[in-house]
Amino acid sequence: MPDATVIGGGISGIACATSLAEAGAVPQVRERGHRLAGRMASRTLRGTGTAHDGRVADIGASYFTVRDPDFRAVIDTLMADGVVREWTTSFHVHGPEGMAGIASGPMRYAAPGGLRSVVEAMATGLDVRLEDEVAQVEVGGARVLVDGVGVDAAAVCIPEPQARRITQDVPVIRSTWEPIIAVTLVFADRTWGDIDGVFVNDDPVLTWIADDGRRRGDEAPVLVAHMHPVLSTRHVDAPAEAIPAAVAAVQRVLGIPTYPEWVDAHRWTYAKPLVAAEDPCWVHPEVALGVAGDAWAGGPRVEAAWLSGRQLGKELAGRLG
Ligand SMILES: Cc1cc2nc3c(=O)[nH]c(=O)nc-3n(C[C@H](O)[C@H](O)[C@H](O)COP(=O)(O)OP(=O)(O)OC[C@H]3O[C@@H](n4cnc5c(N)ncnc54)[C@H](O)[C@@H]3O)c2cc1C
Repeated sequence: MPDATVIGGGISGIACATSLAEAGAVPQVRERGHRLAGRMASRTLRGTGTAHDGRVADIGASYFTVRDPDFRAVIDTLMADGVVREWTTSFHVHGPEGMAGIASGPMRYAAPGGLRSVVEAMATGLDVRLEDEVAQVEVGGARVLVDGVGVDAAAVCIPEPQARRITQDVPVIRSTWEPIIAVTLVFADRTWGDIDGVFVNDDPVLTWIADDGRRRGDEAPVLVAHMHPVLSTRHVDAPAEAIPAAVAAVQRVLGIPTYPEWVDAHRWTYAKPLVAAEDPCWVHPEVALGVAGDAWAGGPRVEAAWLSGRQLGKELAGRLG
């Protein structure tokens, strides 16, 4: 059976490996981090000195939506298993004059165990190597060389700026990638009322606040705020320096009188591509080498990354016969 290396253990890499395995190939996922999920990360709170040590908070993607019928089938199974839950269809909207109303939209899905658990559940049964960074991918005759070792197929499922560091044999979209600093705030009590999340419009500090307790379903007084891209860019080298401005803005938007018991900032240097290709993925014209991720399939969304990875897996499997 043909072997395949999938570089990246985010949702696109896991979707790619799954469809390669379904087609009879033997994929191995190589992930440089110590856990799967990439930008669907959930952080376990430790050393906070609060009652919420050991609890996880979603510090990457806030939620996901579901449109594609095949993605829906996967998510329905995960819902039946208790991994995924319906969160909400409505978020508050905040503008320069204060709270401006409620915006309704599609169902937003979340996970009781954090979004990382969704990717980990999808990876069940796959051969996954953690803390295994790939340094080089190149075309070598009819094969693909991954760190100098020939494989029948290789899938590059990582953000383009990171892909450029390991290979010159894939196309360049040249999208600009926006950074986001995500600030997690643990409060003593819930004082902000009946709110799941707030789109913060026309604000110099924040773009979004999620109620992580409502999102995960345990009602813990934990918020995660995303800072404005301009401010995120300014503080990308020292995210902790952005914390005072973030806390003040969260207190202002939600009318919270108290300071959080614990607060921390996480930097996403490559949070979202500002331009994405409409094509679902790319495959080399001569060898079984391809690229997938949320800069494809119309991204940058969880569902787009899944669709992109799955399509790449199918196309590489087709090449392998
Ligand atoms: C702050 C934030 C908020 C977001 N909010 C939403 C939202 O609300 N809804 C939504 O749908 N989407 C949201 N997104 C986007 C969504 O998270 C992404 O579109 C999706 O998770 C991308 O998945 P991916 O597999 O393509 O990439 P990633 O998740 O980035 O996975 C790539 C993986 O590759 C690994 N890797 C990198 N280089 C190497 C290497 N050389 N060797 C081995 N492994 C490597 C990385 O460690 C990572 O685990 C958000 C993203 C961020 C950062």
